[in-house]
Amino acid sequence: MTSPAEMIRSRAEQYLMNNYGARDLALVRGEGIFVWDANGNRYIDLLSGLGVNNLGHCHPKVVSAIRRQAETLLHVSNLYLIEPQTRLAELLVKHSPADKVFFCNSGTEAVEAAIKMARRFSFDHHGSGRHKIIALQNSFHGRTLGALSATGQTKYHEGFHPLLDGMIHAPANDIDAMRKAVDDSVCAVILEPVQGEGGIYPCAAEYLRAVRALCDEKNLLLIYDEIQCGLGRSGHLFASDEFGVEPDLITLAKSLAGGVPIGALLAKEKPAASFVAGTHAATFGGNPLAAAAGVAAFQVLLDEQLPARSKRLGEQFVQKLSALREKHDCILEIRGRGLMIGVQFNGPVADTIKTLRERGYLAGPAGPNVLRFLPPLIIEEDVLFETVEVLDQILTQNK
Ligand SMILES: *Cc1c(COP(=O)(O)O)cnc(C)c1O
Repeated sequence: MTSPAEMIRSRAEQYLMNNYGARDLALVRGEGIFVWDANGNRYIDLLSGLGVNNLGHCHPKVVSAIRRQAETLLHVSNLYLIEPQTRLAELLVKHSPADKVFFCNSGTEAVEAAIKMARRFSFDHHGSGRHKIIALQNSFHGRTLGALSATGQTKYHEGFHPLLDGMIHAPANDIDAMRKAVDDSVCAVILEPVQGEGGIYPCAAEYLRAVRALCDEKNLLLIYDEIQCGLGRSGHLFASDEFGVEPDLITLAKSLAGGVPIGALLAKEKPAASFVAGTHAATFGGNPLAAAAGVAAFQVLLDEQLPARSKRLGEQFVQKLSALREKHDCILEIRGRGLMIGVQFNGPVADTIKTLRERGYLAGPAGPNVLRFLPPLIIEEDVLFETVEVLDQILTQNK
């Protein structure tokens, strides 16, 4: 007899495009740190979806907010005021360096909005001809054409040229290189305070301070892409809480609504003022369902003090992983902040990820040689430490 998982797999193969490659694991239920596949096997989700389920799967407070909102109002257009949208915006502004919020539906859309705001702000204050944006090499900002052009990894660009004009890629943590890249045609800098897809590379605090100073000197907007590292993931609610360097714009998405699609562009008062009526819009942006889920998720993040928990658990996790590095030559480096951790191996990690999965742990790559952990911020410490022991056993067997 065909198993439920096999039926899902064969239907996917027949009817879905292959852009995600071959997949054989169908996850059908989640609760807290656990997910179950269609055949009833249980896994610990050490990737939180992909940086989305930071509160664990189906957090009861998020679920009940969704249920209540679904029975009240699912959608009205942005021609009208949307009450949950105003509440989520208020929460974000009160807890971030920003003054105003625009809602969209995904990370890449938040980055598109940031690119448009940077260009428009520059146009409003400095006239035309200042459209270029400096991004970092090895960065990831999304897959739509503008965000893809900002993304500093050529493997994502292949076959999609011509890209958006005016994206310059400078090496990270090299302020001289960025200074050289600035001329009269540049209007903004975009960077991830901790690079995610590129392999978990944190920016140095000193570098972020120097970039801020350069942006002030040259009248450039500084955009933080905190879609992956923000909202507690890297041990702080926002990157500015750790580095003390405030950006002008912040992009958010992934975990913002506890698993419901959403994106947001946060901005200081001045750049936000450039989005005058008619300049930008999204049909579903900040719709009642997503916004209500977002309010509940953000409240849980604050009430349960998950950013601090992420920082504390992350430090312990890194300590344990570092002990593993002493033991196994194949591990070259442990990088990260909070519960956003990359283990750099000297070769491909695909087999290690496969074996971890067989043992009931879902982790993922960040590039071919980096094992990435983005566990739910609610994870218990003994589960996290158990993971290190299992990894130890796997690496010992492979010797
Ligand atoms: C995931 C991610 C994006 C893109 O978000 P989508 O919702 O997939 O469009 C952009 N920037 C960063 C830093 C990300 O991690």
